[in-house]
Amino acid sequence: MTRIVYVNGAFVPEAEAMVSVFDRGFLMADGVYEVTSVLGGKLIDFAGHAARLSRSLSELEMANPHTDAEWLALHRELVAQNAVVDGMVYLQVTRGNPGDRDFAYPNPPVPPTVVMFTQSKPGLAENPAAKTGWRVISTPDLRWGRRDIKTVQLLYPSMAKMAAKAAHVDDCWFVEEGVVTEGTSNNAYVVKGNKIITRQLSHDILHGITRAAVLRFAAEAQMEVEERPFTLAEAQGADEAFITSASAFVMPVVEVDGKAVGTGKPGAVVARLREIYLDEMRKSAI
Ligand code: PMP
Repeated sequence: MTRIVYVNGAFVPEAEAMVSVFDRGFLMADGVYEVTSVLGGKLIDFAGHAARLSRSLSELEMANPHTDAEWLALHRELVAQNAVVDGMVYLQVTRGNPGDRDFAYPNPPVPPTVVMFTQSKPGLAENPAAKTGWRVISTPDLRWGRRDIKTVQLLYPSMAKMAAKAAHVDDCWFVEEGVVTEGTSNNAYVVKGNKIITRQLSHDILHGITRAAVLRFAAEAQMEVEERPFTLAEAQGADEAFITSASAFVMPVVEVDGKAVGTGKPGAVVARLREIYLDEMRKSAI
């Protein structure tokens, strides 16, 4: 089946989709994106992703080309056209094609480029890695200073992912001033007893949509939540550790820089959080 993608108002076979070489997303990484999971053909936490998209665009002084209702209709149409059961919808909005290369934003603005596509991942929620957990290594956080804006400048996270692959582990955790910021494409947590510790929101990390939901569910389940930075040593000495993202959901981390976390096996707190998250999100999927 040929994948149907969405480009600037049209649903077309992927081979026919075109974006200009002068697009500022291509030349300047001047664009933002969102990834929304699909389970059972329905969108997970769509409202959260739509809200963050609006915020990312506004931080970059770009107009939002669609209302949330229009975005929802586009997501649903793409899921339907590609018969996605489990997987993701990727969307990207760039500052568009000014017809030439220039550092300055086009003035007046030109129409943004809007691209969307699906990725089918059958059994996304049954990822066997959730039973074994991820092993991570650390690397200095050399990204820019506005990580709260979900831009498409993902070269450094890609380099870190390659470093993880080279080390035969699952991911990298970024470290800045001696404390963990986040993973290459996820938020990072440690668990001590009944307490979940994760870095507070700021410009230093992406404001994960999964993070917000998981912290809400944790509080509802009478777990204590402490939002503050933690060190690698603290993670290595914790009872459990985990990451969250829209596509990995809640994933245990069992090793940090070669040292086992807790028993070295996924623990009960993370397993419970994953279960609650998936249950609640399936219930509210639209
Ligand atoms: N941090 C970074 C750097 C990310 O790229 C992502 C995933 N896009 C996250 C955290 C997790 O965010 P979310 O839960 O919204 O997927």
